[in-house]
Order: sequence, then C-alpha cells, then structure tokens
Amino acid sequence: MPRTEEEWRVRLSPEEFHVLREAGTERPWTGEYVDTKTAGVYHCRACGLELFRSDAKFDSHCGWPSFDDAIPGAVKEIPDRTLGMLRTEIRCARCDSHLGHVFEGEGFTPKDTRHCVNSLSIRLEPKEG
Ligand SMILES: [Zn+2]
Repeated sequence: MPRTEEEWRVRLSPEEFHVLREAGTERPWTGEYVDTKTAGVYHCRACGLELFRSDAKFDSHCGWPSFDDAIPGAVKEIPDRTLGMLRTEIRCARCDSHLGHVFEGEGFTPKDTRHCVNSLSIRLEPKEG
C-alpha cells in the first residue's frame, strides 16, 4: 500500500490521481459506469477494497454512478465545507482515497441515500457466469 502521495502518483493515471488523491470530480455523464447495469462488485480503484454492490446501484440521472448502500465498513464519511455548502464526502475506509459525496433525503429509493461516486474512483469486477 502506498504511503505517500508520490507513491500514489506513480500507481494511478493523472486523472485517477486527481480524483482519488486530490478529491477531484469527473465531469457528469463522462464516467464509464454512469449507466452500467452489469452485476458485480465495485472495488476501490486505488487499493482494491470492495465498496459497493451492483444491486445497490440505481438511476439517479445526476450524471455519476449512484448507490443507495455501501458494503458495511468500506466507506467513511467526512464533513466537507468546500463550495460554500455542507456536504458529506465519502472516502475509502482503507486507503483514504476520495470517492464522491453521500446525500440523504432525496427520495430516490426506499433507503433514501445516494452515494454519488466518480467512475474513476471505482472498478467493476463483473460477477462470474
Ligand atoms: Zn481504497
């Protein structure tokens, strides 16, 4: 596991490094997993930890992959006061890489939670068979 930002920089593409390690945001509708319906598990693109299952993914029409639940213990939440508003940032619990933000009370699904995640932060491992 890399311990410094320089070690991360050589392991990740420039785009991945910007999102994962500098809390960047990919442009909406540009990520590879926005409309993906494939069954499987989404892993942290930096360290490989399992983060989200495909059965929690739903169409939010916000332009980023959205999940109404995370694998227990895989994601940590941090208050984020940038951009003049209070949001909740989500990061990988193991490697501290930025994933996106989590929103509640929007009414999309019965769980009423939207993990809004950059495609560049995750990698889908399709279910076999
Ligand atoms: Zn990670």
